[in-house]
Amino acid sequence: MSKRIVILGAAESGVGAAALAKVKGFDVFVSDMGKIKDNYKELLAQYEVAWEEGMHTEALIMNADEVIKSPGIPEEAPMVVKIKNAGIPIISEIEFAGRYTDAKMICITGSNGKTTTTSLIYHIFKKAGYNVGLAGNIGRSLALQIAEGKKYEYYVIELSSFQLDNMYEFRANIAILLNITPDHLDRYQNSMQNYTDSKMRIVQNQTEQDAFVFWNDDPIIKEELKKYGIKAKMCPFSIIKKEGMIGYIADGKYVIEQPTPFNMEQEELSLRGKHNMYNTLAAGITAHLSGISDEKLRECLSDFEGVEHRLEKVARIGGVQYINDSKATNVDACWYALDSMTTPTILIIGGKDKGNDYNAIKDLVKEKCAGLVYLGADNQKLHDFFDGMGIPVADTHSMKDCVEACNKMAKPGYTILLSPCCASFDLFKNMEDRGEQFREYVMNN
Ligand code: ADP
Repeated sequence: MSKRIVILGAAESGVGAAALAKVKGFDVFVSDMGKIKDNYKELLAQYEVAWEEGMHTEALIMNADEVIKSPGIPEEAPMVVKIKNAGIPIISEIEFAGRYTDAKMICITGSNGKTTTTSLIYHIFKKAGYNVGLAGNIGRSLALQIAEGKKYEYYVIELSSFQLDNMYEFRANIAILLNITPDHLDRYQNSMQNYTDSKMRIVQNQTEQDAFVFWNDDPIIKEELKKYGIKAKMCPFSIIKKEGMIGYIADGKYVIEQPTPFNMEQEELSLRGKHNMYNTLAAGITAHLSGISDEKLRECLSDFEGVEHRLEKVARIGGVQYINDSKATNVDACWYALDSMTTPTILIIGGKDKGNDYNAIKDLVKEKCAGLVYLGADNQKLHDFFDGMGIPVADTHSMKDCVEACNKMAKPGYTILLSPCCASFDLFKNMEDRGEQFREYVMNN
């Protein structure tokens, strides 16, 4: 009898895993507590996978030899607890898919900057003519691409901590760790160490043939590295030139020292802001390690168009610059956005708070903000924290009112920055919807 694989959660990763498991000849069953989207139902039908929605039928799940869990399902979900207690192994889609490819894996994790860095690396590899696929939290699932028989030489994979949680044997040939700052602590028993341990899994199973690219100045990564005997080639980067750095910025130049020296003017880099220097260093080091020519690297680092909803310049109207950073769903991301502001800024902040501590941005708000516009279903916490700072504030509960309030406060030369520190689900479908509504009201005003 063939091995039974049960998949919990039927979205991008779950359905991809189901398709791959089926192609590999397993007995496959998919179970989702919620409603499965029509496009995913079609895919399940195409691969002849049995499924259920709106429930978890224990009799069909507890007979699994192995369970693949979608990253969205928390460890505490009752079904997951039962499976664990029964000793059935639970893995992630990437772990499963990794068994069926010998492509070189370039894996990117961190609390912030994953999508930007992943997209930039993919852009460079693709433009350099490499046979490369894009997967993970971005685009289509790794498992589905392998199920479809794609034969890439490289995969560039964005990994969230939730994916990493259920990865055991998977090995990243190039592992990139951008930073570790508080996020998603609700999923980690409010323990920063648990969340950190999850991120550090990116280096597990790496060998001497692999490389580990990381931000040297992150205090948490620095501490963690003392605990790990990492075998991979260490590739630290920093915003300043320091002993041992493979990449850094010095005297207005972007520099990579190894394996061969490379440099270009910082001015020529397409991404702006300190945080994007980190992302660009991580991407450049990775490309350089993979043999991409200096000429291509220079070209790609200067023509990359960036990713939507990440410090995206929307428009300049009447001398006012509008920037959409809807993806800034935590305080650290907003810190970097504010840090990169060069004109008086009206900050749009608020939404579904994940236990934010706004002290981290207090000084920058004082220094950069000419106004604060709160945008959330409940703005009380923002009032309590920021109202006393002597900066004009406005209270809004819809994007339309928010943009109007911003326009009232703005003067020529100002920047209006949507970088809300919070998730979007209180007023919007998701962060994309929030960013798109922002664009729409800006353009139609
Ligand atoms: P992720 O995929 O990790 O969420 P994104 O590239 O989508 O990262 O960026 C998320 C948010 O974090 C954006 O607001 C962006 O401006 C900000 N950001 C991007 N890179 C970094 C970085 N290296 N450090 C801190 N913040 C960053």
